Amino acid sequence: MALQSVLDDLRKLPGTGEVIPVIDPVTEEPITEFTDCGPEAVDAAVARARASFESGVWHGIPGRERAKVMWRIADLMDHYAEDLAQLDSLNTGMPLAQAQMIVPTCAEFFRYYAGWCTKVNGTAHEVQMTGGISGAYADMHAYTLKEPYGVVGLIFPWNGPVFNACAKIAPALAAGCSSIVKPAEETPLSALLLDRIIAEAGVPEGVVNLLNGYGATAGAALTAHPDVEKIAFTGSTEVGKEIVRASAGNLKKVMLELGGKSPVLIYDDADLDMAIMMASMGIFIHSGQGCVCGSRIFVQRGVYERVVEGVATVAKNLKLGGPKEEGAMISPLISAKQLTRVLGYLEEGKRDGVEIVTGGERLDRRGYFVQPTVLTNVDPATSRLYKEEIFGPVVTILPFDDDDEAVALANDTTYGLAATAWTTNLARAHRIAKRLQAGTVTLNCQLVFDHAVPFGGYKQSGWGHEFGREGIEAYMQTKSVWAQL
Ligand code: NAD
Repeated sequence: MALQSVLDDLRKLPGTGEVIPVIDPVTEEPITEFTDCGPEAVDAAVARARASFESGVWHGIPGRERAKVMWRIADLMDHYAEDLAQLDSLNTGMPLAQAQMIVPTCAEFFRYYAGWCTKVNGTAHEVQMTGGISGAYADMHAYTLKEPYGVVGLIFPWNGPVFNACAKIAPALAAGCSSIVKPAEETPLSALLLDRIIAEAGVPEGVVNLLNGYGATAGAALTAHPDVEKIAFTGSTEVGKEIVRASAGNLKKVMLELGGKSPVLIYDDADLDMAIMMASMGIFIHSGQGCVCGSRIFVQRGVYERVVEGVATVAKNLKLGGPKEEGAMISPLISAKQLTRVLGYLEEGKRDGVEIVTGGERLDRRGYFVQPTVLTNVDPATSRLYKEEIFGPVVTILPFDDDDEAVALANDTTYGLAATAWTTNLARAHRIAKRLQAGTVTLNCQLVFDHAVPFGGYKQSGWGHEFGREGIEAYMQTKSVWAQL
């Protein structure tokens, strides 16, 4: 499948809204464009999804049959892996090798959740009724059924286009839901190919419906739609709150995977070379545009200078560039909007007297590149760049003396997505893991992922979980059935 055909087909998609250019973040040139689908298309997509759900064409077939189709999607994703990787690499500016590593993991979402198609069952209960009218029922039986919600809206951001799409489409399909898929307006390319793959694999028409448009138009219309039962959203905490408000109309269920300001604790007994390298990559990879990026590093005082110097050295040596540039490891920011946002935080930091150990500037070249930036001397009480999610290659490093201070600093945030501790004292590591207020805690590792391990945010980082058994159950509701025997 030629890459060019995806770019051309995107232009031809019907739409009634504004024309949206797709910009290459490396060159700042347009790659292609498409038209915002408009409100009628949202209604039509929901109606198609509803009709497919009511017909039972997907959720009504045996789980093992759904599983076979999902395996075919995964196999086709393997077949088109190079195209998918090239589209994501072109659209986000990430190194091709990085995209090539990620795509097979995305295909695995479909194999992993295919397994669950036959394994999510309800529970049977022995019930003993006592007293009053219940005395009339001597012999009772109760059980639960797990049923798909019905029509679900899947909305996600640009930072990992194929990954974000598969993380939602696969469990929704396994659960038997019919979905409307709304990718980020910045990164519509791979979603179009994925949509074709899903159809080619044999998913019946109307079960997965792709919508392209802005968040404020297509996304908002989907969220407010009275015939959508659930929204599964990944994105910023700010938009997450808008989604909750917009969902109130029909009290639709909402799953939210939101932002973070994740702390990384480095103790003086840690494997420092490893901790420095991983903490650096844990914030600078993909220019910090990862929800779990460790944007606040805290270091035990005895090794503070060494860690600051170590992270700054890694930062200075990382080669930024586009997929076509030899040896480039770090992609640009996704858009001019994101660039302005990140530079705005840096300017404010400079005015506040933050110490810039390295970085702090836009690269003097085309493309939305910002230097990997290490900041110290930040005031945790007042600094906005310390408190708010920047979603850029910017890390603050502060010292701590003991566990209590480390935990207090780490937990002093409205977010709770991820947290890390680096220490060779395993007893301490596990004690700290319990005290950190985050949905995911990584001990002596960062940037880890498995389809089977639940992922979700504490505090304002989210509602609910993706991945693992929780991931499919997020698309199902529980019905209790009572029977008198
Ligand atoms: P965003 O919230 O601006 O947009 C995300 C998606 O929501 C896009 O598809 C957008 O079109 C849509 N959207 C925007 N406004 C909407 C509205 N009013 N109604 C419905 N949909 C709307 O986020 P972003 O800037 O594109 O992505 C970065 C954010 O995503 C960061 O905060 C990051 O932490 C978060 N993120 C979280 C996870 C996670 O799993 N927790 C993973 C990746 C990214």
